[in-house]
Amino acid sequence: ANNLVAIVGRPNVGKSTLFNRLTKSRQAIVSDEAGTTRDRQYGKCEWNGREFSVVDTGGWVVNSDDIFEEEIRKQVIIATEEAGLVLFLVDVTNGVTDLDVDVAKILRRSKLPVILVANKADNNVHQYYAAEFYSLGLGEPYCVSAATGSGTGDLLDIVLDKL
Ligand code: GDP
Ligand code: MG
Repeated sequence: ANNLVAIVGRPNVGKSTLFNRLTKSRQAIVSDEAGTTRDRQYGKCEWNGREFSVVDTGGWVVNSDDIFEEEIRKQVIIATEEAGLVLFLVDVTNGVTDLDVDVAKILRRSKLPVILVANKADNNVHQYYAAEFYSLGLGEPYCVSAATGSGTGDLLDIVLDKL
């Protein structure tokens, strides 16, 4: 089986923050500025004595919105070609965006196992808003806070289950 887990999602949802937490590194650059992650970043994650690889997908720094979104789609497609499991990150503080819907479509078509991860669920109020991501058609949104680490242990249990 392919034990590469790809973290995908539109810019600024916290992919690099989650990557760094899972790999216990500061390899991936975290930034408020959308599109800071260049190319793709690979790392290893160990949980309950098992190891798997993680890839943080990014997109190049391009300041034209159109080219930028095209680049994100490309990154998602590349990720789905090499991954065995996808963590699809969305941002509960932002709600569903058009780009989330686009990425969801690519992922549904890929037939890969996908865990829908509602990030930035720093507190219970945010968890309440996660329900709207059901509309993406990828099952139950799983709440985490990559920043605080809340929910990431349970997420890792699910990842190991699905790998
Ligand atoms: P990426 O573009 O998807 O890789 O997103 P980044 O990891 O670079 O994060 C974008 C911004 O969101 C940064 O300012 C992070 O500090 C912030 N962020 C990431 N995860 C969380 C979280 O769980 N809660 C909150 N409140 N902010 C977060
Ligand atoms: Mg990033």
